[in-house]
Amino acid sequence: MARILDGKILSEKIKNNLQIEIKELKKKNIFPGLAVVLVGDDPASKIYVGSKEKACRELGIHSKVFRLGKDAAEKEILELLESLNADKEIHGILVQLPLPKHIDEKKIIEAIDPKKDVDCFHPENVGRLMVGNGQIFPCTPAGVMEILKEYNIEIAGKDAVVVGKSNIVGKPMAAMLLNAGATVTVCHSKTTNLKEKILGAEILVSAAGKPGLITVDMVKPGVVVIDVGINRNAEGRLTGDVDFEKVSRVAGAITPVPGGVGPMTIAMLMKNTVVAATRIYE
Ligand code: NAP
Repeated sequence: MARILDGKILSEKIKNNLQIEIKELKKKNIFPGLAVVLVGDDPASKIYVGSKEKACRELGIHSKVFRLGKDAAEKEILELLESLNADKEIHGILVQLPLPKHIDEKKIIEAIDPKKDVDCFHPENVGRLMVGNGQIFPCTPAGVMEILKEYNIEIAGKDAVVVGKSNIVGKPMAAMLLNAGATVTVCHSKTTNLKEKILGAEILVSAAGKPGLITVDMVKPGVVVIDVGINRNAEGRLTGDVDFEKVSRVAGAITPVPGGVGPMTIAMLMKNTVVAATRIYE
């Protein structure tokens, strides 16, 4: 049976440390602040924003949520970002994705001051990450790296496979593993012989958003499996991309869903907000 990589416990530990750090910052008159922009009424986005607000409250981070209607004009969002960029009480800004179709997502992301870009989606921060000079890291892949570190999982020299090549998870994940010395294969929907590629993995990160994609015949014994996928099965229960029940019998270590990468993502967002607040006064 695989070792369970518990992201819930680790995220609590990280948040407890951040709480102490925030108290110290407040003694120096630094009050970390996060602005979240939510456009439209996507139910999943509303839940994510609610979780982010709750985490801020628990840690003592000042948070402001800006809720705009689904028909909000691009100009309105750009003006809001301009005012948040200039707001001294706000150190982190995130725009909850996805945005409604009529909004140019790239334009919105590029309008965020890179110093306040706590999601690390701005091309300047993505570029820094690629050249190994990142100061802030995208929350989900950063959460995965923290899990690997906490459980002393060696990355350098390992064969890693990342399934998914989105700008939010797959691509930065591959870059971070590569920067840490892994040999990385990135798979996506057009990859041929997916099973053969995954069988070569010593570390497997699945971020496809496809329940049941990774089956036991696709993994080699001892593999470290990180399941980033968050899906709902037919009964409405949360499930990852991996057939946890069977794969956990052959893997060396595995993250559960829920309780794996999910809670780490929010903890990393809180960490990035504290880093951004600290850096502004450097
Ligand atoms: P996304 O933008 O939809 O990207 C999915 C990626 O998976 C794409 O690159 C796609 O390939 C690839 N893919 C889809 N089906 C595949 C298949 N059958 N075989 C191989 N590759 C396949 O999603 P995302 O935003 O990266 O998120 C991925 C998953 O992670 C979702 O379930 C999401 O809910 C979850 N997520 C979790 C967290 C967390 O905190 N745990 C955070 C963010 C996202 P193409 O590029 O070729 O289309």
